[in-house]
Amino acid sequence: MQRDKLFVPTRREVGAELTSKNAELLVRAGFTRPLMAGVMQMLPMGLRVQRKVEQIIRDEMNRVGGQEVLLSSLQPKELWQTAGRWEDLTKDVMYHFKDGSGREVGLGMSHEEPMVSIAGEKPLSYKDLPFALYQIATKFRDEPRAKAGLLRGREFLMKDLYSFHANTEDLNKYYDEVAEAYRTVYKRLDLPAVYTISSGGVFTTEYSHEFQTLTDAGEDTIYLCNKCQLAVNDEVIADFPAVGGSPAGSAGGGPWGCPECHGELETAKAIEVGNIFKLGTKYSKPFNLTYTDADGQSKLVEMGCYGIGVTRTMGAIVETHNDDRGLIWPISVAPYHAHLLDLTRGEGADRVREIQSQLEQAGVEVLVDDRPDVSAGEKLTEADLFGLPFRLVISAKTGENVELKERASGEVELLSIPAAVARIIEAIKFTQ
Ligand code: ATP
Ligand code: MG
Repeated sequence: MQRDKLFVPTRREVGAELTSKNAELLVRAGFTRPLMAGVMQMLPMGLRVQRKVEQIIRDEMNRVGGQEVLLSSLQPKELWQTAGRWEDLTKDVMYHFKDGSGREVGLGMSHEEPMVSIAGEKPLSYKDLPFALYQIATKFRDEPRAKAGLLRGREFLMKDLYSFHANTEDLNKYYDEVAEAYRTVYKRLDLPAVYTISSGGVFTTEYSHEFQTLTDAGEDTIYLCNKCQLAVNDEVIADFPAVGGSPAGSAGGGPWGCPECHGELETAKAIEVGNIFKLGTKYSKPFNLTYTDADGQSKLVEMGCYGIGVTRTMGAIVETHNDDRGLIWPISVAPYHAHLLDLTRGEGADRVREIQSQLEQAGVEVLVDDRPDVSAGEKLTEADLFGLPFRLVISAKTGENVELKERASGEVELLSIPAAVARIIEAIKFTQ
C-alpha cells in the first residue's frame, strides 16, 4: 500500500470530548472516527486491526469446535418474552421501538434467545451433543456511561459463543477448554488478561469468570493475590470468604487475606475483555430445548456462553501499547507489519521498490511512504503515531543499506537490505 493512496485522515488535535487514550490516539492517527458518544466508526487502518483481532478469535473458536453463524440484530419482542427478558428492557439497556407496522422490535444486546431458538431447529438426540455456535457481530446497548472510545460503546462488536451439552460434567469440561482457548487468544494478541472470578449474576449459582486486562484505564476493580494466581472482581468479593482481614466492603480496611493461600490481596483497575458463564438450563427451560437421551427420555440441554468484546479488546490493546509519540501495535494485529519511508526525495526509489517487492513476496504487509512533498520530520512523526512494528528508512545517510527500527523497543540498526528483510520475515513468522 502506498501512503499517498491510503485514506487516513490524521489530525493534529482532537476535541476535549475524546478523554480516553484509545479514542485520542486512534482518532489522531486516522484509524477511527466517532459519530456520537459510544459510536465509533472504523476507517481503513482501524478496520485492518479489527479484522486481525477477529481472525485470531475466530481461529481459536474454530479450534474448540465452534461453528460460526451470523444471527440478526433486529429481533421481535416475542422472542425476548420467552425467557422473560423483554420486561427487563430498561435494566438491560436494550434499544427497542415500534416499526412502521406497529410491531415491537429490539436491537440485540446479547444473543441467548436467538441462539437457543436456532439450536432447537431440529429435534436433538444425545448423539447431536455437544455442539457450539458462535458469531462475531454487532451488539447495541443503550449504555448510560458510554465513552467516546472503544471500551464502552453503544454499538460494538462482540464474539459470542454458546455451547450445548447433555450434562453438567460435559459443560464443565468444555468451559475449561474455552478458558484455555481464551488464554491463547490473549497471548496471540499480546494482551495480558487475568483469569478472574466474577459473580454469576442472575445466570448461575456458581461463580463465572472474566478475563481482565490490568490498566488504570479500566472501569473494573479486581483483587489480586500477591502470592498465588487468585484474582476476584470486587463485585463478588463481598460474598467471598476473606481470611485474616477486614470484611469485604468495609471502608478503609487493611489488606485482605487470600482465601486460597493467605497471601495479601491488592486492588487493581482493569478492563473486562472477555467472560465465560455456565448458563445451565436458564434458557433451555423456557425455550424447552431438550434432547432425547440414550434411554429414550427427554432432558433439558445444559448451556454455556462465552463472550469477547472485540472492539473493546482493540481499545484495551491501544490503552496498554502506546507512548507519548503514538500507537505501538503488536505484530499480530498491526494494520501493516512494516512502514517503509523514502527520505531521499526520489533518488532511492529503486531500493524502495526492491525492498517492498521482497517483503511482499514473503507475505509481509508494507506501507510505503515515498511522498515527495512531505518533509522527513513529518514522515517520521507519522510513523511513530501509526505504530507499525518495523520502520525501514532509506535516506542520504543509509547508503546501500537500510535503517531498521523496532517501534516497541526503539532499537535501531543499519542493515543490508537482505538482512533487514530477513529480520522482519523471521519476526512475523511467529505470529501467523
Ligand atoms: P460490562 O460489565 O463491562 O458492562 P458485561 O458484563 O455487560 O460487561 P457481557 O454482556 O457479558 O458484558 O458481554 C461480553 C463482553 O462484551 C464483555 O466481556 C466485554 O468485553 C464486551 N462488552 C460488554 N459491553 C460492552 C460495551 N458497551 N462496549 C464494548 N464492549 C462491551
Ligand atoms: Mg454491561
